[in-house]
Amino acid sequence: VNADLLRTLEDLAHIGDKRAGSAAGQRAAAYLGDRLRAAGLGPCVERFHFPRHEVTAATLELILDGETRPVACEALEASGAGRLRAPVVEFARATPPLRGAVALVERDTLLHRSRQYENVHEAGGACMLLASAAPRNLHQVGSVRRAWEAAGPLPALSVGARDARTIREALAAGRAVEAAVEIAIALHPGVGQNVLARIDGERREQLVVGAHYDTWFAGSTDNGAGVALLLELAARWRARPRPPYALVFVAWDGEELALYGGYDFLRRHVVRAREPILAVLDLETPSSHGAQAYGLARSSHAAWERPLALAGTGDLFAVDAPMAMVPELFGGVIPTDIQGLYRAGTPVLSTAGDGPYYHTVEDTPDKVDLDRLAALVESFDRLLLRLMDEPPARFSGRDAGLWHAGVSASAGLDGLHVDVTVHDGARVPQAAALVEAVLFHDHFFETATARARTDDNGRAALRLPEPYAQPPCFLHVSAGRAHPLVEVVLPLV
Ligand SMILES: [Zn+2]
Repeated sequence: VNADLLRTLEDLAHIGDKRAGSAAGQRAAAYLGDRLRAAGLGPCVERFHFPRHEVTAATLELILDGETRPVACEALEASGAGRLRAPVVEFARATPPLRGAVALVERDTLLHRSRQYENVHEAGGACMLLASAAPRNLHQVGSVRRAWEAAGPLPALSVGARDARTIREALAAGRAVEAAVEIAIALHPGVGQNVLARIDGERREQLVVGAHYDTWFAGSTDNGAGVALLLELAARWRARPRPPYALVFVAWDGEELALYGGYDFLRRHVVRAREPILAVLDLETPSSHGAQAYGLARSSHAAWERPLALAGTGDLFAVDAPMAMVPELFGGVIPTDIQGLYRAGTPVLSTAGDGPYYHTVEDTPDKVDLDRLAALVESFDRLLLRLMDEPPARFSGRDAGLWHAGVSASAGLDGLHVDVTVHDGARVPQAAALVEAVLFHDHFFETATARARTDDNGRAALRLPEPYAQPPCFLHVSAGRAHPLVEVVLPLV
């Protein structure tokens, strides 16, 4: 098993930086299709369109006591464009308003960078410098998108840990530190591709196993390891007699940008086709040498309990947390493929891990703990076997922490009228909740967004423009207090 897993990791690393919409991303999709075919599965590709954010220039200069020196940097995905020169402040020590300063922010494994970026923006900062935590001054990249915006309001750059230390030491010594930043970006239409393979079951209900294959750089721990695990499980189940439930294996695309692949799957398979999906298992960054901790997060569904205990899967994860806790910890988001599926009510389970080379150029095959990955193959194989024993009723119901949103949309002369009624899990109407409605055209191009607060009866009325541009068009409505606790997707045309 180790040799097969290593081969997948090396092949995927060899393809390179598999960003959604890139040539390497397309090669990766073709490779995955070939591997699934070789295992006897008939793969299919599902394409979606999204705004691709391309950085055409990113420079950073530090001015220390009047002396200028260039510093290597990397623009964060969905950074805003801009050109500025301003004093640098350490964000953790600064008192807002930042009055146009450049905020130096530490990478925080428990607070998503998109929330850090929003915090800098709200505090009046003009730019975010995100200090990496990786060894040897390596840059840790990633997306600062909160949702669907193609470019944020400020430039956001990643700097190495050593350069960040230089800035902090100069500031601590009372020296004047300024930064000159220039970021230029271009937006292009991009095409993402989910690669799927299905094994029919005795029954119609299906279990879905997914892993995102788009990466920053070689991306062996994030998420070559998840994909290697996925391919191994797919080949095993293909070689067996027909299972009780159908199995659908999905290699998602565009996770690193805005979780596009998971949302495209939600729209097509859950919302439009109403497929009887019992649960979705997401294999995210499951194995990395030097990981601080591995976690499992899952929706509160009875179906998980017995299979997890019998398969011993929990033994390989130090943390086993309710999915509802994830957005509370990470600043309002669930930073992996299943965010939309979870908010829409589908039973989900995801792995998570962090390694020292996460999102750097050195996230290569040698960084994956192969013995652990092989143990995970056995463990998830047993977990799937046990899930096959659970009756469908054990997967029913919604996560107790989720809300309900009733959404109706109708076209009027002055645009699209969206009426929303929000209840919590106990069906109590939620007053003063934040409701957000996003209208999309051409899959993932944001046409317009509207926000409102619910009244005392938990109702809100929102207005969006019409007509829709290019189909397919969707309306996504989310509601919550600090962060979305429900997301409803309506297909429009
Ligand atoms: Zn990932």
